[in-house]
Amino acid sequence: MKDLYQRKINYMRISVTDLCNLRCQYCMPEAGIADKKHHKEILSFEEMAEIVKAAAKIGVNKIRITGGEPLVRKGIVNFISTISQIDGINDIAITTNGLLLKEMAKDLKEAGLKRLNISIDTLKPDRFKEITRGGDLSRVLDGIQEALRLQMKPIKLNAVVIGGFNEDEIQDLVRLTMADDIDVRFIELMPIGEASNWAKERFISNEEIKNRIGDMMALEGDPSSPAKYYRLPRAKGRVGFINPISSHFCESCNRIRLTSDGKLKPCLHSNQEVDIMDIVRRNPSELQQVLERAILLKPEKHYLYTTQHEIGHRNMSEIGG
Ligand code: SAM
Ligand code: SF4
Repeated sequence: MKDLYQRKINYMRISVTDLCNLRCQYCMPEAGIADKKHHKEILSFEEMAEIVKAAAKIGVNKIRITGGEPLVRKGIVNFISTISQIDGINDIAITTNGLLLKEMAKDLKEAGLKRLNISIDTLKPDRFKEITRGGDLSRVLDGIQEALRLQMKPIKLNAVVIGGFNEDEIQDLVRLTMADDIDVRFIELMPIGEASNWAKERFISNEEIKNRIGDMMALEGDPSSPAKYYRLPRAKGRVGFINPISSHFCESCNRIRLTSDGKLKPCLHSNQEVDIMDIVRRNPSELQQVLERAILLKPEKHYLYTTQHEIGHRNMSEIGG
C-alpha cells in the first residue's frame, strides 16, 4: 500500500518487548522501565502474528523484530517460526544486543531468521560495561562468532559514536569489515528519550565519521535502505552510514512500527500513535483498516530540530529504533 506521499509501505518493525538485559545510557534509564506493564497490557505473540497477517495482506513483506531486547522475551523463536510461514512475508530480521545470541543463534536460524543486526558501540570491555551499565562484551563477540559460524547472512553491526566516549574507536570498528563479510554501520546518536538533553558535543555527524575514516569506495545502494554503503580497499564487508539526523531519508521511508503495548507508530520521530490492541482483541476483522489508517497518517518528513518538533514521550527501548 502507498501512503499519501506515494511511498510504498512494505516494512514493519515490531518491538516485541520494552524490557532489556542492558541499560545503555542513551536508551534506557539506569533503573530500567519505570512502570513495568502487566502482561495483559502487552500484545501476545498470537496477537502480533494476527497483525502481521493483516499487514501482509496490504503489502508488508519485511518484518524486523526489535525491542527492548527481543531475545529476552520467552517464545521469540516460535514467534519467528510462525511469522515466517505467513503468506507474503519473505524477509525477517532482528536487531539485538547479542548477549544471548551464542545460545540462541542456531534455533533462530532454523526458525527462519534471515538477517541479523547486532548493536556494538565499542570493542573495549570496560567501555562496553560503562555505556551499557554492566554488559559483558565477550558474550556479544561470542554471539557474533557463532552467527558467522552458522553462516547467518547478512550480519550487520550497528554502532553509535558518541563524542568524547568512543570516537577514537572508529578505525577499529571499520577494520572488522576486512576479514569477514560483516557490515559495520554507524548510526547517528538521536536526541530521543534518555539522549534528548545530552550536550551537543556528544553528537557526531556521520559526515564527520566518514571523513575521519578516509579512503573508501562508494557502493550502489538499495534506494529504500536508509544506509549508504562504502568499502575499504580489499575489505570483505561494507561500511554503512545511517543518518537519521543530518540527512532526511524520509522521502524513501517504507516503514511502520508496532510497539509491544499495541500501538502503531507511523513515524519514529512523532508522538502520533494508533491503538491496535483493542482492535486485535475485539474486532480482528478491522485490522487491515486500522493498519491502512496508520499508514495514511505517516507525515511527509520528521521535524527534529524545527519548531514543529515535539519531545518524544517514549525512549528508544520502547520503540525499537
Ligand atoms: N536491544 C536491541 C539492540 O540494542 O540492538 C534492539 C533495540 S535498540 C533500541 C535498537 C537500536 O537503537 C540499537 O542499535 C541502539 O544503539 C539504538 N539506539 C537506542 N537509543 C538511541 C539513540 N538515542 N540514538 C541512536 N540510536 C539509538
Ligand atoms: Fe537495551 Fe538495546 Fe536499549 Fe541497549 S540499546 S538498553 S540493548 S534496548
